Amino acid sequence: MLIMGPPGCGKGTQAERLSGRLGITVVSTGEVFRDHVKNRTPLGREVIVHLDAGDLVPDNLTNRVVRERLDQDDVRGGFGFILDGYPRNTAQLAELDVILAANGQALDAALQLSVDDAELVSRLLRRATMTGRSDDTEDVIRHRLELYHQETEPVAAACSQRGILLSVDGTGSEDEIFGRLLAALRASFPDAIPDATTAT
Ligand code: ADP
Repeated sequence: MLIMGPPGCGKGTQAERLSGRLGITVVSTGEVFRDHVKNRTPLGREVIVHLDAGDLVPDNLTNRVVRERLDQDDVRGGFGFILDGYPRNTAQLAELDVILAANGQALDAALQLSVDDAELVSRLLRRATMTGRSDDTEDVIRHRLELYHQETEPVAAACSQRGILLSVDGTGSEDEIFGRLLAALRASFPDAIPDATTAT
């Protein structure tokens, strides 16, 4: 499955909670890129300008990273995995379909968290004072939001057309949002998802 939503919607946090509850791995492209930047790898040196500007990393680099990651054993076998932050445009969605098909897999569900822009900007500015993420400045935040609307919402629309989009209100407490996600998943996959009444 994948989880998407605008910057600051809390998808990283919720992806980790889902991972714990469902026992499946999270693959976060943003985390992968930040690790490369932190470790000063060649890829890190290439992507840092895009991260700092709030731009998308070019598709050829992003798709390569995802293709290599999805070839590893923890996501090849087992129950599945959660993609956090990928695909972010329709070209990446097309590439994901190719990667999954080659691995004998398919996309089952696309979770979307929705939060309005004003709330997101204030959340991200608050986060900036705590985590010091270099892309959490007001101009860059607004740019990331714009890109989300332009590039990533069409991915949600495509998933909706396939009948796999599960859209959930992303406002409220972490527990409330987690409960909503579990309930939405459970409605589509009654046997695969543990009881949604006990959000942990
Ligand atoms: P957020 O959703 O708050 O922007 P992420 O951790 O998902 O945070 O992404 C941070 C940055 O990493 C993005 O602004 C972009 O530069 C890069 N990035 C992450 N995923 C992708 C992707 N699928 N395609 C291109 N760039 C990406």
